Amino acid sequence: MKYAVIGWPLGHSMSPLIHNASFEAMGLDCRLEARAVSPSQFEQFMNSAAREYHGIAVTLPYKTEVVRFCREQDEEVAIIGAANTLMRMPNEEWRAHNTDAGAVGRSLRSAGVEPRDKTVVVLGAGGAARAVCFQVIADGAARLIIANRTRSRAESLRRDMCAFFTRGAGVETIDLNEHTLRNAIAAADILINTTSIGMYPHVEESPIPRGMLKKDLVVFDVVYNPLETKLLREARSAGACAIPGAEMLLYQATEQELIWLGEKAKKVDINVMRAALLKELGRSL
Ligand code: NAP
Repeated sequence: MKYAVIGWPLGHSMSPLIHNASFEAMGLDCRLEARAVSPSQFEQFMNSAAREYHGIAVTLPYKTEVVRFCREQDEEVAIIGAANTLMRMPNEEWRAHNTDAGAVGRSLRSAGVEPRDKTVVVLGAGGAARAVCFQVIADGAARLIIANRTRSRAESLRRDMCAFFTRGAGVETIDLNEHTLRNAIAAADILINTTSIGMYPHVEESPIPRGMLKKDLVVFDVVYNPLETKLLREARSAGACAIPGAEMLLYQATEQELIWLGEKAKKVDINVMRAALLKELGRSL
């Protein structure tokens, strides 16, 4: 059975590596390939992809755009407005899922962190931020503060979340500058970076000055390359709990296999994927 990860450009995708290691370990005759689909090829690709693939993993910049090619979508996709997983249905139509959101919840829980009644600061308002905000509100956060370089994008995310979660957390937006961040982080229990700041090759960048990090803060960085970002390194040295983005990547991938393969993926083992990822990125979590 053939699967693909689509995106543009696609140089950074770890999906073939972790899924193929997992398929092999389960003894399944499945293969996931990288398909770099340019914006000019995208429409044509989506119109014929169901003849070639059983399922598709979707990455930048298509997580929003793929939804209109899907006959069905799950509730998370409708609220978040983006999908990262397509499942081919028997009639060769697609069903859209979002496994990023659930993976956020699992990454926090596996570190013993529960957003209920907490104040959460989210840096960024792109695709990853949408999944993060959805999940922390769904998990009962009391207050959510979204800080983004482009304030209008943060506002749009706030409106979408408030439209759905009518009795959920109080959601605020702030500018991404040192003064506003200092106040927000002083009040925060959990800080989640969803910007691409600190991502390879800009590994010496961090979205937050070291001095703002404190011992009683949980810091979750969704960036997974490098495995330990500068933000996480500094959080650890400040005595904070640091959660790496690789956890989210692995959880969303295991969930993708459960969607694609159902019963056949019962034996999916996150440690097989983790080992393949660590080998590739060359360091330990
Ligand atoms: P996206 O939709 O393009 O959003 C990027 C976000 O980063 C935006 O909020 C953008 O702000 C902000 N940003 C980028 N460069 C910045 C800079 N120099 N200064 C300030 N803000 C900056 O991307 P995405 O899909 O959300 O992905 C973001 C990161 O999350 C990537 O590193 C990606 O690899 C990672 N990710 C990880 C997982 C996982 O499973 N661990 C899943 C998804 C994504 P503006 O709105 O102002 O442009």
